[in-house]
Amino acid sequence: MAETTLEEAARCPWCAEPGKKTGTTRPHGQSIERGVKVETYECENARCENEGERWLVQFNPDGTIPPKGTRNEQPKEYDIMRHTTFQERERAKEAMRRQYEESIVPGSS
Ligand SMILES: [Zn+2]
Repeated sequence: MAETTLEEAARCPWCAEPGKKTGTTRPHGQSIERGVKVETYECENARCENEGERWLVQFNPDGTIPPKGTRNEQPKEYDIMRHTTFQERERAKEAMRRQYEESIVPGSS
C-alpha cells in the first residue's frame, strides 16, 4: 500500500529538499476525521524557486500520513492562507534571501 513517510511528506513539493516545520494544527470540520493533525512545513532552500512557500502534512489519528491528494482527506488550501498573508510570505522570503546571501563569502574563489 502506498503509504507516505514523514521524510517524504516533509520535503518541499517543488525542490524536494527537506522543509522546516513551522507549526501544528488540529483542524476541525465535517469532512475531517477526529484526531487528525496537520503540520505546516516551509521551504528553506534559498535556491528553490518557491523558497519560503509552505505546505501541509496531514497525519491520521493513528499517526500514518495519507498519500498526497487523497480525496477529502487533504486539508483545504485556505487553511494555510488563513495563517499566512502574502506580505508575510514575501517577508519570510526576503529574510531568507538575505540570510543566504550573507552565508556566501563573495569573491572567495
Ligand atoms: Zn523548495
